[in-house]
Amino acid sequence: MWQRLERRLADQRQRGLWRQRAGGTAECIDFAGNDYLGLAHHLRLADAQAAAARRLGAGSGASHLVSGHRDVHEALEQRLATLVGRPRALLFSTGYMANLAVMQTLCNTQTRLFQDRLNHASLLDGAALSGARSRRFHHRDLDDLTRLLARRPAGSDALIVSDGVFSMDGDVADIRGLAALAQRHAATLMIDDAHGIGVLGEHGDGCVGHAVGCDQVPILVGTLGKALGSFGAFVAGDATLIEALIQFARPYCYTTALPPGVAAASLAALDIVDAEPERRARLSTNIALFRRLARNASLPLLDSHTPIQPLLLSEPARALAWQATLAAHGYQVGAIRPPTVPAGTARLRITLSASHTPAMIEQLVATLNVCQQREPDARCHA
Ligand SMILES: *Cc1c(COP(=O)(O)O)cnc(C)c1O
Repeated sequence: MWQRLERRLADQRQRGLWRQRAGGTAECIDFAGNDYLGLAHHLRLADAQAAAARRLGAGSGASHLVSGHRDVHEALEQRLATLVGRPRALLFSTGYMANLAVMQTLCNTQTRLFQDRLNHASLLDGAALSGARSRRFHHRDLDDLTRLLARRPAGSDALIVSDGVFSMDGDVADIRGLAALAQRHAATLMIDDAHGIGVLGEHGDGCVGHAVGCDQVPILVGTLGKALGSFGAFVAGDATLIEALIQFARPYCYTTALPPGVAAASLAALDIVDAEPERRARLSTNIALFRRLARNASLPLLDSHTPIQPLLLSEPARALAWQATLAAHGYQVGAIRPPTVPAGTARLRITLSASHTPAMIEQLVATLNVCQQREPDARCHA
């Protein structure tokens, strides 16, 4: 068994796929994280977290069903439901668990599950654990999905699942198109808006939010660890969905409740999302600036208008070389390689935040240009 592990590790290293843990350093400017509104270091979140920890404890002490469920969890659930215009919301410790929970609760071995090919790993894992029969449709391809839906046995339950904002590409699902298809084929639609909550929508309500009702998207998942700068996740929907999750979802029942301080930090973040729309405006300006400069420099941009701005470099070694050059200049970016993305689509995943200044973005693009100049044939790949 150990020999097999050692062989796999050697192979991983040799193929340029070795993963290393990374943390921000004081010298590096972070263009890799998901803190799109610059809230993770906001003192109001830290103060709210500390105050709640002093009052209620550093940990929740038990699961929600035993004795870990506090008023602060309840208040956060209500705020989240209001944010996205749903009757109810249920907190989870992570988005990963929320996705496992929904799929395990809704599906059985007879369920037909249809997923976008580029869905987040937690949705793929959720599908595997749910026991449902799973098919993946081509990325954002409603015709392909229609073809798969039409082939399913008459009367079978069907669940369509898609990321809202695709985490490694930055493009956005056609929510209304998916909802119309779901309705036509009597299927249920689940959207994971991990990267849209706080960022998209007029009030930070995401790519679904108030614009698309519960009847069209009955299952909405969001995370608190990205734009909200805190930690945790939620599922929003009607009372039937939420009660079923409380009763039957193993990733809800058999785990310790989110620490109360973390819930308090999320509430503070929601206050800021409400009170400071200028953060979303600054983020939009930064995205537009980055895209304009990157286009002028002929960098291999993808068609994304969200804070996730990947540069397609294809080969893992190229992505690693660019990442190393950027790090040497003081910029942290992600080099995303298979299996996180399909083979041949390794990329730099650059993410923008409201906390970046125009000068930071200008200097980042100048350094990306240095990376490009170091390989004379790069423009051909782009
Ligand atoms: C990050 C992410 C998750 C997981 O959320 P965590 O709270 O970090 O576990 C789920 N879905 C998508 C689309 C994500 O990007």
